[in-house]
Amino acid sequence: MYIGIDVGGTNLKAGLVDETGHILDTERTPLRFTTAEDFAGTLAGLAGTLLSRAGLRASDIVRAGIGIPGAVCGGDILYTCNIPLRDVPLERLFRAHLDIPVRMENDANCAAVGEWLCGAGRGTRNFMVVTLGTGVGGGFILDGRLYAGGGMVGEVGHMVVEQGGALCGCGRRGCWEAYASATGLIRMTYEAMEAHPESLLHAVAAERGGVEGRTAFDAAQRGDAAALELCHTYVVYLAAGVTNLVNILQPEAVAVGGGVAGAPEPLLMEPLRQIVERECYPRHTGKIPRILRAELGNDAGMIGAALLDRAI
Ligand SMILES: [Zn+2]
Repeated sequence: MYIGIDVGGTNLKAGLVDETGHILDTERTPLRFTTAEDFAGTLAGLAGTLLSRAGLRASDIVRAGIGIPGAVCGGDILYTCNIPLRDVPLERLFRAHLDIPVRMENDANCAAVGEWLCGAGRGTRNFMVVTLGTGVGGGFILDGRLYAGGGMVGEVGHMVVEQGGALCGCGRRGCWEAYASATGLIRMTYEAMEAHPESLLHAVAAERGGVEGRTAFDAAQRGDAAALELCHTYVVYLAAGVTNLVNILQPEAVAVGGGVAGAPEPLLMEPLRQIVERECYPRHTGKIPRILRAELGNDAGMIGAALLDRAI
């Protein structure tokens, strides 16, 4: 039996996971950060709750895997994006509360492992996950193993797709993330609304209390011309990055996850597949990767964290 812990920006979620990736029980709590010691105690507390509910002892757990939104090295957190954790020996702090072996990985890498073992990537040896959320995340399985690099690998969102383009949160201009993330889509939606006062985008946004990632797709489904054009522009940017990655890594399959991936198939996944098939380099040998929707949703990171041993 394994424990998988997903450290999100607002919530901490732990799951009791069996060796086949099935989640048997989950426990969660809001993230209220005070100190690294408290943080480790909270994570151990979640795992302890799962153990006691299942009538298990610490020795029944092979390992606890923890997905961290940042860079890790062994049992230490080097850096996190939204939580003030720098150079924290998390494994040591966690084991002071609950003595279970701990393995940590970047959260996007955990999601890639989860999708590879139990979701869209099952049966592949070379596989890639791209997550479209607030930012754009990525994780790679190469030759049947997670490519973990030096802790900051898979930052696919920060390759430039538009020289001199929109300013990215990382300080660079024209990053893929500034166009293909939900945040980028929302920015482009505001721009389209300004350029097209007649567009249904205005009514759709008003109905839902503001512009969201889905606004463009909702208006496009109702046949709005400006929204259809916006969705097309978005998919072209998305496909540019996916095609770049396919050309570098030639995976057998690419899974697209995150909130935006829930958009209607004809507006997102179908045109994405068409562009990648038409433009990717491996087409010259007829080896075009399958472009799939991720299958595990928000559970991918937790399942992948639990099963990290099988990918390393
Ligand atoms: Zn960037």
